[in-house]
Amino acid sequence: MAAVEQDGRMSGPRPVQRLEVALPVPLPQTFTYLHVPGAADEARTVTAGDLVEVVFGRRRSVTGLVVAASAPAPPAGEEVAGDGAGPARRLRDITRVLPAAYRLEGERRRLADWMASYYALPLGEVVPLFHPPAPGTTLRAGGRAAPERYPAVDGTVTALTPAQAEAVADGSRRLAERAYSAVLLHGVTGSGKTEVYLTLIAEALAAGRGALFLLPEIALTPQTLSRIAARFGDRVAAIHSGLSAGQRCRVHELAARGEVRVVVGPRSALFAPVGDLGLIVIDEEHESSYKQDEKPRYHARHAALVRGRECGALVVLGSATPDLESLANARAGRYGLWELPERLGAPMPAVEIVDVRGGAAPDGLSPALDTALEETLGRGEQAIIFYNRRGFARALQCAGCGASAACPDCDIAVTYHLRPRRLLCHYCGHTRPVPAACEACGQAAFLPSGAGTERIEIHLQGRFPQARLLRLDRDTTSGRDSHHRILAAFARGEADILLGTQMVAKGHHFPGVSLVGVLAADDGLGLPDFRAAERSFQLLSQVAGRAGRVGAGRVLLQAWQPEHPVITAAATHDFAAFAAAELELRRQLGYPPSRRLARIGIASRRQADAAAAADALAGALREGLADASLTLLGPAPAVFERLMDRYRFQVLIKGDLSARRKEWVAGCLRSLAESYPGVDAIFDIDPVSSY
Ligand code: ADP
Ligand code: ZN
Repeated sequence: MAAVEQDGRMSGPRPVQRLEVALPVPLPQTFTYLHVPGAADEARTVTAGDLVEVVFGRRRSVTGLVVAASAPAPPAGEEVAGDGAGPARRLRDITRVLPAAYRLEGERRRLADWMASYYALPLGEVVPLFHPPAPGTTLRAGGRAAPERYPAVDGTVTALTPAQAEAVADGSRRLAERAYSAVLLHGVTGSGKTEVYLTLIAEALAAGRGALFLLPEIALTPQTLSRIAARFGDRVAAIHSGLSAGQRCRVHELAARGEVRVVVGPRSALFAPVGDLGLIVIDEEHESSYKQDEKPRYHARHAALVRGRECGALVVLGSATPDLESLANARAGRYGLWELPERLGAPMPAVEIVDVRGGAAPDGLSPALDTALEETLGRGEQAIIFYNRRGFARALQCAGCGASAACPDCDIAVTYHLRPRRLLCHYCGHTRPVPAACEACGQAAFLPSGAGTERIEIHLQGRFPQARLLRLDRDTTSGRDSHHRILAAFARGEADILLGTQMVAKGHHFPGVSLVGVLAADDGLGLPDFRAAERSFQLLSQVAGRAGRVGAGRVLLQAWQPEHPVITAAATHDFAAFAAAELELRRQLGYPPSRRLARIGIASRRQADAAAAADALAGALREGLADASLTLLGPAPAVFERLMDRYRFQVLIKGDLSARRKEWVAGCLRSLAESYPGVDAIFDIDPVSSY
């Protein structure tokens, strides 16, 4: 049979390739397409590893991975390619073959396979992580987009400290072995960790090898980027969410061609096609932003270790407050351990715990903090006030009947905001005007209960009218780049007080800060989550580390539970004491790192459907996973039983699930979705929280 070319001319049958393509759809199989080598611009024969663009259902352009390609052969009858949509046509042609720079092969392909298996995902859903959103855009646009450049600052350090030198010497030895190994670099803030990373990157480059440098949030680390740019110039490129599709493609192509040898960025930078990788650095390795909490769910730290294993690289995990799983791995000898116990330049700040029980202003500044702030401002020094609640008041309560205004779609009280004046749900963004009278009983007397940053701001403005105040929370950072601008202004000394939520804990070095005040330091401890204590400790350590980077610093932690072990450990900078107590608790309760965890979430707009589906699933899992090494918990309503108008249930699985069992669970979830229309299920392997 003859193929019809685009201009309608008949010609002899052209050899056709049959391709098996993995596509980003929630189905486990691959899809068959045809390719006629030489039919379009792409004269080349396609092989496994090529990315291709195809039409899939109503989607006009989907990028997929060729997992198998036949040799070109004359077309079989039912597979005629190149024709319009005739009834005889069964298989479609691909639309385009992407340039070789986008091929997914070698250790990156092995990483993709591992992710598909470990996270029980179809391979096709993993593949988009490995290429920019619109691959090949650069070539179509003429390749003019340039990779981002950062101003180079000269932070050259003349000699490493003995602790740094020891770490670097061990790192050099590991690099020279050209085999996989991992190290935990545990060093307090300002102890010189970044200097160790940069020295090792330089060594990798000198040996002709490439490097990846992962950061939790690249927009907040301009100082680190400038240091990297100063050392490595054109050989480094950054990836971040502010880049256009063309710029992302440019970075990808430069890396694939070997012109860029160091790629810096958030978790997505892990997948960059840097060849002959010698080193992967994960800075602030404990940060939960390394976990992607939407499909495809994965943890970049775990994936980085696998990429390192697959290409024989050294993986360095750095933190002042290591994740307890990383600590356990280091203690078990699976990772090396480098410690930088000393802060460079200044001692760790003195931390005082302020008991606010029975105080006059439990949600505001205690007399002790008020005095400390007055003294700090009097000396012309800067202060940070940290309160992890935004808005004016946590809830708007009726003084008559006690009812709190609630979100119509979530199980959560709405927060009262003053500027602009409104009620806002912090989960779903629902907003409505502040009612004139209670929505429940009609009385017009409201009690704003519990404070937020807006309320503290008003208090501070009244109390210290001369002080220049900056507020940093999600409400003051809606503008592009505003987050960075506020931090930079404070770092330049353009304000005396920086007040804000956890956003103040990250990013810049603030040389002028001598006081940090933490309101409600124990606020996060009440969350019903196995990582609540760990996260609180990390956050408090990080905030405390902002004080006295130069000179003496002072930190005041206001707490309702001043004897809580997390508060006392944070106050004494005692990571070891915190870790010992918390690891013991995890062991008793069977949570990571003692046992692995998987979480299945079930949600539906109809409560009865969600409950029935959760029951059915739990029943099937109890039968299919009957094994003494596994513990199933649930189904139970989620902590917030209703969010965004959806009722939520969950099942937890403690223990080691084999890849085969994960695949079986994923299959159960697919059939659940078929039996219960309107019910969604998620399968979260190694979740960062248990709710
Ligand atoms: P971390 O990454 O642990 O916060 P950095 O590497 O940023 O620490 O170091 C903190 C500060 O100390 C930086 O200003 C850095 O330039 C400086 N620094 C790092 N190592 C040395 C050293 N060996 N000698 C002098 N200064 C150093
Ligand atoms: Zn809501």
